[in-house]
Amino acid sequence: MTTVDLTQQVIDLEQTYVVQSYARPPFVLARGEGVTLYDTEGNAYLDFVAGIAVNALGYGDADITAAIQQALSNGVLHVSNLYHTAPHAELAALLCEKSFADRVLFCNSGAEANEGAIKFARKVAYEKGKTDKTEIVTFTNGFHGRTIGALAVTPKEKYQKPFAPLMPGAVLAEFNSIESAQAAIGPKTAGVIVEPIQGEGGINPATPEFLRALRELCDKHDAVLIFDEIQCGLGRTGTLWAHEQYGVTPDIMTLAKPLANGLPIGAVLCTEAVASAIKPGDHGSTFAGGLLVASVAKVVVERISQPEFLAHVTEVGAYLMERLAEINSPLIKEVRGRGLMAGIELTIPAVPLVKEGFRQGLLTVNAGDNVLRFVPPLIIEKKHIDAMIEKLTVILSEAANA
Ligand code: PLP
Repeated sequence: MTTVDLTQQVIDLEQTYVVQSYARPPFVLARGEGVTLYDTEGNAYLDFVAGIAVNALGYGDADITAAIQQALSNGVLHVSNLYHTAPHAELAALLCEKSFADRVLFCNSGAEANEGAIKFARKVAYEKGKTDKTEIVTFTNGFHGRTIGALAVTPKEKYQKPFAPLMPGAVLAEFNSIESAQAAIGPKTAGVIVEPIQGEGGINPATPEFLRALRELCDKHDAVLIFDEIQCGLGRTGTLWAHEQYGVTPDIMTLAKPLANGLPIGAVLCTEAVASAIKPGDHGSTFAGGLLVASVAKVVVERISQPEFLAHVTEVGAYLMERLAEINSPLIKEVRGRGLMAGIELTIPAVPLVKEGFRQGLLTVNAGDNVLRFVPPLIIEKKHIDAMIEKLTVILSEAANA
């Protein structure tokens, strides 16, 4: 069978048997090396998506491979959360050591981490006998996941409407509006969930005043402040946690995406005050924090938290922003972001440019309708950014002339 036939066979199978909840492009990814992916026909793609801000250490990382091999050599992949396992406990300790948190609960995805955070916020109020303190305040353009609870705090009509009724008690306020937050947060608020830098919603950084105001409002109304750092956390913006750059500390932080460099994991990090509200039986997961994922996540956290690693992200992140800002195109309205989380807001829809990127050997992804997003592996180098800018310049000039 030729490679072209093989590609078509995979696409035919996908289109026949897979629920069509994604519109995938007409190539089949088969292998990766560093920051480059290759399809079954050998075409190379410079990867500025990284599995949507997941593959922080890129492809073929020797430490990740060694951690997987070591974990497999014990012959045990899973025992459930009924039992102690070393990687689970060690990863929790590592995350607490490197953050504000006192305790961690593991899960399997970002949406699940936010489900856990919502439950924790409500349980904190419940333990205090405040059974009507159940509201979760969320913000415009926020994205917290696709499960019914996380979706209820993801205020996008296209995502929510067909699946109503969602979790009751979600209250919407305007992102970066202190006035709107003041109106939304009150005695009935159990928790406030916000991304310090919104990802899916268009790469929108919160203002420092806004996050400070949320902290004050949560303290005033005895509500739990939840930072969703699933996309912006773990080194993506040049500090280990995005909120470090704001000097505002949450009560809960949710993590997922890059935590195990592509293996499914999520985590709810919290203070002792929050954790003490959670009792055996309140929450659980069969798979969460298993031996393999936790072993790999330990490597990821150790590597990303190295000062040299974070300095690299800051340096190449600044270079990415600088090179994007230099592009002279009538289609660009604004370039924004932090570290290696960048977006260009366009005057036109972003998806056609993403598709043209496939032809140019470049992977990018939209964030909302009009923002082209760049969330490459954190190991990317300036030469890769130069190569990307060259391709992007062609794509933008072709689109402007179309
Ligand atoms: N929160 C944020 C900020 C995200 O960007 C995402 C995914 O894009 C999620 C939550 C949901 O994560 P998952 O797709 O792992 O459920």
